[in-house]
Amino acid sequence: MDWRENISNKLKEFLKPTQFIFNAPMSEHTTFKIGGAADILIFPSTTAEVVKILKLINQLQMPVTILGNGSNVLVRDKGIRGAVIKFNGEFARMKCEGTKIMAGAGAKLKDVSYFAADNGLTGLEFAVGIPGSIGGAVFMNAGAYGGEMKNVISKVRAVSKSGDCAEFGIDVLDLGYRRSIFQLNGYAICEIELQLLEGNVDEIRQAMDDFTQRRESKQPLEFPSAGSTFKRPEGYFAGTLIDKTGLKGLRVGDAMVSTKHAGFVVNAGHATATDVLNLINEVKRRVFEAHGVTLNPEVRIIGEQ
Ligand SMILES: Cc1cc2nc3c(=O)[nH]c(=O)nc-3n(C[C@H](O)[C@H](O)[C@H](O)COP(=O)(O)OP(=O)(O)OC[C@H]3O[C@@H](n4cnc5c(N)ncnc54)[C@H](O)[C@@H]3O)c2cc1C
Repeated sequence: MDWRENISNKLKEFLKPTQFIFNAPMSEHTTFKIGGAADILIFPSTTAEVVKILKLINQLQMPVTILGNGSNVLVRDKGIRGAVIKFNGEFARMKCEGTKIMAGAGAKLKDVSYFAADNGLTGLEFAVGIPGSIGGAVFMNAGAYGGEMKNVISKVRAVSKSGDCAEFGIDVLDLGYRRSIFQLNGYAICEIELQLLEGNVDEIRQAMDDFTQRRESKQPLEFPSAGSTFKRPEGYFAGTLIDKTGLKGLRVGDAMVSTKHAGFVVNAGHATATDVLNLINEVKRRVFEAHGVTLNPEVRIIGEQ
């Protein structure tokens, strides 16, 4: 039996046929709008399904990649071999109990941020314009305007590659600048509990509007991208260094250093992953030559080399 028929038969035992697709172009699942196809893309809707999917993939010895909203990844042009598990709207339940919010990993950070505001809870205003899922935000310890996920997470439920469920308290998450334990242990983050504080709804909304305006005025939101391309090097800002090196507007194919914010590489048309990677290397080379500072990508580069 062909591997597709085999996995399809097994997945159909517990998933709806609409919950998996073969040969799925990653350009349709990433904010960069770049990337070749994944062999199979699966959309779980509950933690129990994630357990079953991971057990099956493990048994079939297939490689597995986890994806949230695809807003911090560059998928290579050859695509992704094996299975991609995507946490999206299917996995986006939210619940509020007192000052705690429980959310499924696929909930959009923006929606969780508004949900917190609607419930009069403060602490997640910073996240309103970060276009990821809350699972991806935990994985990256996403942050903006002085806030970061580290300050609001209390617990995370996740599933190991072999399908075992575990609960992680904040003390074991090793959250640092764009860093979490999940970058090392490969667990699929499924449910997140946030601990927020009671706040004033008008003030919360005002802060969210303010952050949104600042973002819209500074970031090239009119082009597909994966946000800041590089991490902040110790003591510098990547965007400022790139700007000072005169690289705004530098292009390789349709990949371009944004003319609005030098920290963003944007897809100015039909850029390929190869274009973006070549541009990243050129920017790194020129910034190092001019300033002696090494830039490292914040964007996660995945897929077949
Ligand atoms: C316009 C724009 C602005 C941005 N601004 C900011 C900003 O201000 N601050 C900031 O920190 N980031 C910013 N980003 C980057 C991005 O939105 C964040 O890193 C976000 O947290 C990524 O979430 P995601 O769901 O899109 O993750 P993805 O891009 O899908 O995945 C990122 C990584 O997380 C892993 N992952 C995702 N979900 C899970 C899961 N459930 N379990 C285990 N691993 C998982 C993936 O394997 C991958 O390695 C911006 C991006 C864009 C396009």
